[in-house]
Amino acid sequence: MAQAPARCERHIHFSRFRSLSSLQTYYKWEIYGSKFVDVLNKPYQIAIASNMIIDFHTHIFPKDIRENREKYFPSEPAFRLLYDSPKSKLVGAKEIVAAMDDQGVDRSVVFGFPWKNSDIFKPQNDYIMAAVARFPDRLIGLCCFDPFSKAAASEARRCLEGGLAGIGEIAFYQSGIDDAALDKLAPLMEICLDKDRPFLIHTNEPVGHMYPGKTPNTLKQIDALAARFSRNKIVLAHWGAGIFFFNLLKKDVKDHLKNVYFDTAASPFLYHPEIYRYAVEIAGGDKILFGSDFPLIQPARYFEELKKTSGLSKAQIESICGTNAAKLLNLL
Ligand SMILES: [Zn+2]
Repeated sequence: MAQAPARCERHIHFSRFRSLSSLQTYYKWEIYGSKFVDVLNKPYQIAIASNMIIDFHTHIFPKDIRENREKYFPSEPAFRLLYDSPKSKLVGAKEIVAAMDDQGVDRSVVFGFPWKNSDIFKPQNDYIMAAVARFPDRLIGLCCFDPFSKAAASEARRCLEGGLAGIGEIAFYQSGIDDAALDKLAPLMEICLDKDRPFLIHTNEPVGHMYPGKTPNTLKQIDALAARFSRNKIVLAHWGAGIFFFNLLKKDVKDHLKNVYFDTAASPFLYHPEIYRYAVEIAGGDKILFGSDFPLIQPARYFEELKKTSGLSKAQIESICGTNAAKLLNLL
């Protein structure tokens, strides 16, 4: 560590570092770049961009849910599906901010879960609003609920007026995004369109191995979603099930995907790192948003992939890791 400050001096913009630990992260990166060995022999955290790093996809939960998850299983089967295993971590606001400090993430978009019951999603969304109020420079919140709830539209309005930035991660874990789901999304999309807010929705690849939380959504359903709400700024989670490939079609789909973004959540579990390069080429480098799905995967794992194996330039990586999100969230 002793040599690092002199070598780094010319690169450092101290305003970027909100804590000593994120400054240390940067030093580690510099040391790594010049092949110095960390005396502690710990895995290196790799900071990969000099602009603001925004993680667009993270989940946090209030204390009662973190500590008593099984209490929520009987009335919330989708929650059980994803969080039955004690290995599926649940974290709160303080923990995510500590992880961000440690890994050099400036801001995270945080949200809960698409709970069916309003007596669960309301306090969950209250928790997100409180987290954003507590860490206004670090956390950006989305409101989340089951769109089939009668209270969905009023909850969306309440939360957007209460300081949240959009809606997400909405998911239809058991049904896929069928016609009935699209009808339930219509009033929510209207609210987002009216307020120019993003709408983040879970999608997953329709082929490949099964895992908890993999829904029966189809590419046709995702195209129908994009077509019906083509004026909305929609973020399709988990690379949009790969639908961006059809941006190469001569007709229809390219138009539908005009305002669609793709997040990278869970990518290291699902795809080879070459996906970044192909997605930039086919979907467009301005349409991809780094999202970690924290605490499922640590941001540093993405940074390592992006830096070492994605085949992207520093400028392309910076767009993915922050600039695109900052534009979408009207932060610039
Ligand atoms: Zn998801």
